[in-house]
Amino acid sequence: MARLEESRISGPGAGKVMYIPPMEPWGARFFAAAFRHIGYDARALSEDASSLALGLKHTGGGECVPCPSTTGALLAAMERDGVDPARTIFFMPTACGPCRFGQYSRLDRLIFEKKGWDKIQIMSPSAENAYEGLDNNARILLYHALVLSDIMRKFVHRIRPYELEDGATDRTVEEHTRLLEEALARGDKAKAAELVESTAQALAALPKHPGRRPLIGVVGEIYVRCDPFLNHDLCRRIEELGGEAWLAPISEWIFYTNHLRHLLVREQSRGPAAILERLRIWLETRLFFDRVERLYYRRAAPVLEDRHEHPIDQVMREGMNYLPWQFEGEALLTLGRASLFVKRDGAKAIVNASPMFCMPGTITASIFPRLEKELGVPVICNFYDGSGEPNQSLVPVMHYVAS
Ligand code: SF4
Repeated sequence: MARLEESRISGPGAGKVMYIPPMEPWGARFFAAAFRHIGYDARALSEDASSLALGLKHTGGGECVPCPSTTGALLAAMERDGVDPARTIFFMPTACGPCRFGQYSRLDRLIFEKKGWDKIQIMSPSAENAYEGLDNNARILLYHALVLSDIMRKFVHRIRPYELEDGATDRTVEEHTRLLEEALARGDKAKAAELVESTAQALAALPKHPGRRPLIGVVGEIYVRCDPFLNHDLCRRIEELGGEAWLAPISEWIFYTNHLRHLLVREQSRGPAAILERLRIWLETRLFFDRVERLYYRRAAPVLEDRHEHPIDQVMREGMNYLPWQFEGEALLTLGRASLFVKRDGAKAIVNASPMFCMPGTITASIFPRLEKELGVPVICNFYDGSGEPNQSLVPVMHYVAS
C-alpha cells in the first residue's frame, strides 16, 4: 500500500487539518500558528491522563512515553473533533540513528492503518538533513516560532519564583502568548519582536521578592524535559521547593543538527563541494539561526540578560569530555549543557529528565555520577513514564541546596 508522507510543504494547506504534538506548551501553539499562516487549519494537541491511556492502549507498552503520549493525543483529538482522516495531517518530525524517535512515525502509520485511517498524512521532516524537507518560508517562520517558545518559557522560569502576587507571571505571559499566536498566524515577525519586548517590560515591572534563589539546571531528553504533563510540572516543582529552574532550550537541537552536519561533511567528504557545503552551513548558522536568536534576546533583555545560551560547539566540546561527537544524539548535549550549567551559569544542582527506558537517558544516567564528583553538585536523574511521583526525588536535594 502506498504510504502517505508529506515531508515537503509545497503549497497552501487549504482544507487540511494539521495536528501538532504537545511537546512544549508554547512551542505547540506557536508552531500551529505558523502553520496557519501557510494555509493549514493547524491545531496544537493537548495531553491528559485519558489521552495517554488511549495511546498506551494502541502501542506495544515498550515504547518510550513520548510515543504513546503523542499518539494518544492525536487519537483523542480525532475522536473529539470528528475530522475526516483524508483531511488530516499529523506533524511528527523524525531523526536518524539508533534512537526510537525515528520509529514513531512508522508505528503511528501502522496504528492508523489498523484503525482504517490509512489516508492520514504524516508530515515527517527529518533531522538527518536539518529539516530541509520543509519549504524555506515555512522553515523560517517555524524557527521564529521555536525561538519564541524558548523565550516565553525562560520568561516564566526567570520571573515566577520571585513574583509577589501568585499567578501574575503566568497571566502576563499568557496574555502576550495569545498576541504572539496572532502575530505568527499573520506571519508578522516584526510584531512578534515588539511583543517579546512588551512582555519583558511587563514582567520586569511586576512586584517581586528580593534576592536570588539557587539555580537548578534542567537537561535531558527533549520531549520529557519540556513537557509539563509528562514531567509532572518539573520546573514548577523546583520553584515550590525554593529553586529557580533554567531549562535547556529546544533551539539547542537545531544548532546541534546543523553543527553535526558540518562535522560529518568535514570528516567524510573532500574537495570543493565539501568546502562549499561547510561554508553554506556556517553562513546559514551565523546569518540566520544566530541572527534570529540574537534579535529576540535583545528585545528580551530586561528579563533575560543573564539567560543567554552558550554556542553549540562549546556545549558539544564539554560533552566530548565524556563521549565522542560521533556518538550522535542527545546524550552529548545533556552532559555538555549540564557541565556548562555548573561551570559557567552557577547552577547548584542538575536535574536530568528522561522517559523511562530512554536510550540517551540511560547512558547519561550512567555517566552523571562521574560529573557529580567532578563538578561538586548533586545530579538527580529522573525517569518518567506518566505514573507515580518521580519529582519526590527532588525534595531532599532541594532541602539541601535551598537552605
Ligand atoms: S531520545 Fe529517548 S525518549 Fe526520545 S525517542 Fe530516543 S529513546 Fe525514546
